[in-house]
Amino acid sequence: GQLADPPYLRNLNPPQREAVLTTEGPVLMLAGAGTGKTAALTARLAHLLYTRKAWPSEILAVTFTNKAAREMKERVGRLVGEAVEGMPWLGTFHAIGAKMLRRHAELVGLQSNFTILDTDDQLRLLKQLIVAADLDEKRFPARSLAGLIDEWKNKGLSPRDIDAGESERYANGRGGELYEQYQARLKAVNACDFGDLLLHMLVILKTHREVLEHYQQRFRYIMVDEYQDTNAVQYLWLRLLAQERKNIACVGDDDQSIYSWRGAQVENILRFEKDFPGAAVIRLEQNYRSTPHILAAAGGVIANNSGRLGKQLWTELDVGEKVRVLGVWDGPEEARRVGDEIETCQRAGTSLADVAILVRASHQTREFEDRFIAIGLPYKIVGGFRFYERAEIRDALAYLRVVNQPADDLAFERIVNVPKRGLGDKAMARLHQLARRTNTPLTTAAARILDTDELTPQARRALGNLIGDIARWRDRARELPHPELARQLLDESGYTAMWQAEKSAEAAGRLENLSELVRAMEEYESLGAFLEHVSLVMDNEGGPEQPQVTIMTIHAAKGLEFDTVFLAGWEEGLFPSQRALDEGGTRSLEEERRLAYVAITRARRRAIILHAANRRIYGQWTSSIPSRFVNELPAEHIDSETTMTGGASLWQANWSEQADPFADVARGTGRGPGWQRAAGTLDAKKPGGDWGQRTFSTAPTRVAESRGPAVSLGNK
Ligand code: ATP
Ligand code: MG
Repeated sequence: GQLADPPYLRNLNPPQREAVLTTEGPVLMLAGAGTGKTAALTARLAHLLYTRKAWPSEILAVTFTNKAAREMKERVGRLVGEAVEGMPWLGTFHAIGAKMLRRHAELVGLQSNFTILDTDDQLRLLKQLIVAADLDEKRFPARSLAGLIDEWKNKGLSPRDIDAGESERYANGRGGELYEQYQARLKAVNACDFGDLLLHMLVILKTHREVLEHYQQRFRYIMVDEYQDTNAVQYLWLRLLAQERKNIACVGDDDQSIYSWRGAQVENILRFEKDFPGAAVIRLEQNYRSTPHILAAAGGVIANNSGRLGKQLWTELDVGEKVRVLGVWDGPEEARRVGDEIETCQRAGTSLADVAILVRASHQTREFEDRFIAIGLPYKIVGGFRFYERAEIRDALAYLRVVNQPADDLAFERIVNVPKRGLGDKAMARLHQLARRTNTPLTTAAARILDTDELTPQARRALGNLIGDIARWRDRARELPHPELARQLLDESGYTAMWQAEKSAEAAGRLENLSELVRAMEEYESLGAFLEHVSLVMDNEGGPEQPQVTIMTIHAAKGLEFDTVFLAGWEEGLFPSQRALDEGGTRSLEEERRLAYVAITRARRRAIILHAANRRIYGQWTSSIPSRFVNELPAEHIDSETTMTGGASLWQANWSEQADPFADVARGTGRGPGWQRAAGTLDAKKPGGDWGQRTFSTAPTRVAESRGPAVSLGNK
């Protein structure tokens, strides 16, 4: 009866209970967003402990993030009514893999105190190997090789599994050979990378029967959250470990598979029943998170995907507000609107901790950060760096700082060998000595050292070029608008090219961030004013106790929920991303749509979707059209509004009707900041003419001023 139920069973619905109480044998919980999958999994863990079916150390429980692992631990502690000491095997795949590998390191030729390399170390090592192999690192970037090796590791492939076809994917067939050398080097320095944490363990489990049997015995129960996003190597792991006892419970939602770009295979869900015959498949259909309108909106969008397993969701929650769809003029207005809306919520008693802004691409956070700092709204960026703290932004800022302030030694040091100019540690040591001896800044010392023979000819040439460049940029800073200066500087220093040379998704993101930086500069009077703004922003760390608005990517928001969720930038080319559109076909588009589904279903009570009519992309104004996902929202569940009135809507109306869309509206007051438009998606470049400044009489209040032709930073 209800009363006798332990605390973790109260409140659970019948299928959730079934998932908790079916402890023996394979269980697959397949259900839509917000149906209490994670809640049931947590209760199951509590149940196993409460009923003493297993000791904490006998349960393998995998979460998708470290944060989720901490939360699960806390919740189980609360449910069982005592602190759950020592759940050694509750964590992410990587955390668990690292722990196991430390115990068995010698079986793959490592010592148990092996180092786990970060991406920078990894790249440095790969570069050495590439150079040693007589390959041109510019043509065959280390990052491409790193990406490929990562992909192989995610698939569970060791060097000896790489066939000629796979090997062909790097440096004309030398991929496999370099992979092998890389693994050998890692071993020699007693290190491994993230991929190895899983791959080494997989190899050990496959080749050392006694180790496999040990873990098969030890793990009486295995459970996995977010199963739809496991990759091949993780899948192989689980299958081996669960093969003996078969007490494995996996929960997932095929509609929320959003990591295929990192090797996740949604098929793992589909083959679960084949791998584990007789699995209990439990479906949850009651959603406890979102209001009916939100649920219907999400359902309407995801219904456009094909090949879904298909799920019905219902909720008992009050109908609540419709999903709001807000059309705004441009990015800055989007940020302003969101800020205003949040302040309104705040006045109505909402805590900032219950509010999130979800973006498709990380560069979108910048506009919100700037706005929130301006109005003093506390925020945090989750699962990523705050915009101005990202490596590429810091590099670019360092260049600008040196131009602005030659004595800025820290900035100079940061960029002196980025991109690589052959200025090694030795040259830098000499330079430092001279600077100290003469009590001058590094740039001054650099100019002096060039007159001596203290440096090798190569280092001297490199340093001479850099010092010359800096002097030239400083001269230009007097004439050129500062955003233009920044563009030229990033191009001429080779910094942009450095990221363009590699084709990874990460590099593309960094290039987008760099263009976003230049865009941000346009809002400030001078280079000095901009740098001043940045240092203030960097100093704006809110206290930890203070409730903050969360800004994060949709990817990072998986599994989370918030009362109020703003979904920004729902425009074609941004979401779905240009990359997905360029790739064509339905595969990547459907993954974007699953992202949209994940995004909407994070909201408990209020979802506000925004799209802007204009974006500045790669330094150029572009007219954007609302995302197809906006059009897929069922009309009866949304309220649409647009803030575009007056000049803006007039401009819009004119756009399609007249040869010169600016004919009427361009005769504005002629005062105030101007709009410069470049050819955009509407492709309305005026024949024969360039796009001079156009002034709109009723343009939004804070308008960016842009000057000069745009130099594309992107690799589009
Ligand atoms: P996602 O697919 O987004 O990961 P999920 O299926 O894991 O979602 P949970 O996060 O476990 O869903 O639960 C969603 C919300 O519903 C949570 O706030 C949770 O506390 C609540 N919830 C879960 N089960 C119940 C229940 N039986 N009764 C009341 N509330 C519940
Ligand atoms: Mg969940």
